[in-house]
Amino acid sequence: MQNLPERTVVVLGMGGTIAGRAASADDNLGYVAGTVGVGALVASASHDAPVTVESEQVAQIDSKDMEFALWRRLAGRVAHHLARVEVAGVVVTHGTDTLEETAYFLSRVVAADKPVVLTAAMRPASSRQADGPQNLADATTVATLGGRAGVVVAFAGTLHSAHDVRKVHPYRLDAFSSGDAGPLARIEDGRLRALRDWPAESIMARDRMPEDASAWPWVEIVTSGTGTDGRVVAALIAAGVAGIVVAGTGNGSLHRVLEAALADAEARGVAILRSTRCLDGTIVENTPRRFASAGDLTPVKARIELMLRLLESR
Ligand code: ASP
Repeated sequence: MQNLPERTVVVLGMGGTIAGRAASADDNLGYVAGTVGVGALVASASHDAPVTVESEQVAQIDSKDMEFALWRRLAGRVAHHLARVEVAGVVVTHGTDTLEETAYFLSRVVAADKPVVLTAAMRPASSRQADGPQNLADATTVATLGGRAGVVVAFAGTLHSAHDVRKVHPYRLDAFSSGDAGPLARIEDGRLRALRDWPAESIMARDRMPEDASAWPWVEIVTSGTGTDGRVVAALIAAGVAGIVVAGTGNGSLHRVLEAALADAEARGVAILRSTRCLDGTIVENTPRRFASAGDLTPVKARIELMLRLLESR
């Protein structure tokens, strides 16, 4: 019988609280994110599955400071390791603050034929009750699953799709939700209890991403609400914005003054995408309306989507 090579999981470190360190093991807030090396994180997590775990430090930052150049580098490293035959899947350790953004970005630019599993932590690695080691062990388990492909997030015993995941709590250990769509699975004692299929995103060519961060299309989010007027839109047009995601009220409705300002922006060549500031659900259209709909994407993800569409149309 032929001996199959042991499967490998590659863990790419980006920093975050999972790699954070505080002066005291009882301090879960006064830590510095992005301090502990990814090799040490891997060493601190137990792996049930018989796998070889490799690690690579791609960045070491607090994810609130994420940059387009780092996204580009990360996408390249993920694609590189996925192409290796012995690699079962890739894990990315990341900060929680922009985890949903990086997950959505990767899901749109990496043609993953294996699992790409992002994970993070709410407590630093130095905490007496750190949540990172279990989250990393769960992510590694998911990365070894055969027959599954795409970008997902393993967090607090739950598996989320890159499309639906969002951070919903600033402190709780179970800080992420998939909203209306619900999670993909529960991860229980090293086993996956599937709840729904992993969704697939359409993939954008990675060579469309400029090396120079300033060459990425500038897209901002503007929120509609009481007394909203067009001043911010006028300022954005004057400053050279390429796209505006509007976070509308309810079913994507807009204050009439803001809507007029956005119509003016569109007439001047600014791309507009309409989303909703509601926490759950999708915009429901019965008749075509002005401005394209972001569907069920949150304003934060709609911003990435519009950026990628603008890159694709160049
Ligand atoms: N500020 C941290 C980060 O996003 C928060 C975390 O990881 O939980 O890197």
